[in-house]
Amino acid sequence: MTTRSQLESALIASATNYSWTWDRKTQELFAQLPEVTTHLHPKQRVLALTDHDYDGYLADDEFIAAAEAAVERIPRPDPSPSATIAYFSPEFGVSETLPQYSGGLGVLAGDHLKASSDLHLPLVAVGLFYRDGFFHQAITDNRQHEIYERTDPRSLGLEQMPVIVDLVMDDRIVKARVWRADVGRTKLYLLDTDLELNDEAGKRVSDRLYGGDREHRIRQELLMGVGGVRALHQLGYEPSVYHLNEGHAGFLALELLSQEVDKGLTLDEATRAVRDRIVFTTHTPVPAGIDRFSHDLMQRYLGVWSDRYGVSIDELLDLAHMPGEPDSFNMAAFCLRLARTSNGVSQLHGAVSREMFSQIPGGSEIIGITNGVHARTWMSNDLQEEFDNTLGLDWADGDDAAWGRVESIPDQRLIDIRRAGKQKLIDLVNERVGPRHSLDPDILTIGFARRFATYKRADLLLRDVEAVSRLLSDADRPVQFVFAGKSHPADEPGKEILHRVITFANSEAARGRFVFIPDYEMAVAEVMYAGCDVWLNNPIRPNEACGTSGEKAALNGGLNFSVLDGWWDESFDGENGWKIESSDAENGDQRDLEEAAQLHRTLSEIIVPMYYADGNGPSEAWLAKVRHNWRTLGPFVTARRMVAEYDRRIYRPLENS
Ligand SMILES: *Cc1c(COP(=O)(O)O)cnc(C)c1O
Repeated sequence: MTTRSQLESALIASATNYSWTWDRKTQELFAQLPEVTTHLHPKQRVLALTDHDYDGYLADDEFIAAAEAAVERIPRPDPSPSATIAYFSPEFGVSETLPQYSGGLGVLAGDHLKASSDLHLPLVAVGLFYRDGFFHQAITDNRQHEIYERTDPRSLGLEQMPVIVDLVMDDRIVKARVWRADVGRTKLYLLDTDLELNDEAGKRVSDRLYGGDREHRIRQELLMGVGGVRALHQLGYEPSVYHLNEGHAGFLALELLSQEVDKGLTLDEATRAVRDRIVFTTHTPVPAGIDRFSHDLMQRYLGVWSDRYGVSIDELLDLAHMPGEPDSFNMAAFCLRLARTSNGVSQLHGAVSREMFSQIPGGSEIIGITNGVHARTWMSNDLQEEFDNTLGLDWADGDDAAWGRVESIPDQRLIDIRRAGKQKLIDLVNERVGPRHSLDPDILTIGFARRFATYKRADLLLRDVEAVSRLLSDADRPVQFVFAGKSHPADEPGKEILHRVITFANSEAARGRFVFIPDYEMAVAEVMYAGCDVWLNNPIRPNEACGTSGEKAALNGGLNFSVLDGWWDESFDGENGWKIESSDAENGDQRDLEEAAQLHRTLSEIIVPMYYADGNGPSEAWLAKVRHNWRTLGPFVTARRMVAEYDRRIYRPLENS
């Protein structure tokens, strides 16, 4: 006998822990709830249920059993004493319903937490709660417009912790409250300054992800780093490892140094002690992507710390000195000097970072740990079900033998699942773009979706519009393209590329077969990975530190067609997709033209003919390639492999030092 309140509690419990984002049966349960509006957090959908809805559910034994089973599947916290690894990141992409991320860095952080939960790693995470979240993208006149929506943490399943953190920022004290999100077993704490206790400027510190000027950025980073360490302490954690996912939380070292200086150590000795606890992951080989603050600005914020340590401000500025940048407090240099081990996010990026940072005296060693993605979050439910049945449940743990069994998935089954994925993508286009397109589930589909940063060159294939037109209009072997992506609001050149792509998509020449989906976010991404046959990536090498969308596409049976950059440089084996070789032309324009020509040659001479080799696609040769792609890449591209590698190569050696 189940009562309404028991059923309601079961539904709320399973909506509150973000483990639903990787539990397909719980997602199927939520799919039975009224939709209300798109992307509404499931907790909100439960709270919107009426008496009438409950009457129906209470008479439905299957629904009740599914709700009870969903609660049982929520990962139980480990009885272990306390987290020993603290993971700091400026953004977390856990779900599209929690808009606290802008792109790859955040999604990677979300996947790190999910894999940590799967692996029972004693890891706790810290970030900021941004009231405005990340912007939504609307398109008018073929241009991006940014729309910010205020988010209410309580409606997103977050719980307020009974602590208030305070810290000095220049001439004021700013206070923050702390929210907790449960991501499986992993706890994520988010600091939020939107409190009556703060003045207007104090309230605004955590307003927007990557918003505001340099000074705003310093305040956010102090809040995350210093405030984050204090929050963990007040919550009872005493981590032995602090992992900086990108340098934005680097100021946490200031607070750790303080703890050592209080014990009587000199700044030098304190620096050595702190180093045994810090790990730094760098995410960009583009110097412009590194946080730098002018000495003028930093002097105001470092005063309290130099007083505390009894040293001059100059000594603190020296810790972030980058040769050749006399007036900058360089966060990467600061983190490299304060970390025991640092890493790039692919093997190539590790090597590029060693080269790029080699001139920093006293910087840590830099290794490479290639990013991975959380398989159960990113694979379509249809494919997961097929894999669970045919390969056994171990495939998601990266078991090689399980992945070897992809050979036994029948061709027709594979074709049906992939075609259904394409149909879902077309449904999404209908919903977001309207019916003015001519996408077809039987046509070779090429996808491209990522931030529109200039180095990613979203418009590279439009260098030859004639060639694109030929592909779109081929009567026997047509191709269709689906694009998506946002530009940073302040990135004017990125916005120009976006404008060019959308203008083409809306032109006659696109014939409705080149479509741009607005407002790229996790829910759009997921549908695109499962719905595209080819995943295109053409950055300027070696600017793509890793790139993870291609890994998600690969898990879903999409084949990568990419510049040999980031993860693809070490993963391409000649058979599991295609490469675009980088031109060594000095002139950027010439380089782009050469790479675009090569891209079009490979598309029209190799990729398209292979897809249609048996008349209708996908051909037998294509399916063989898809299976080979799974066998070789499946176990490697997972976040589980990545987090296990962090644990073995970095966390454990530090914990034991
Ligand atoms: C995976 C993902 C990204 C990262 O894609 P890259 O290939 O690394 O550029 C960005 N945004 C969303 C929503 C994603 O899911």
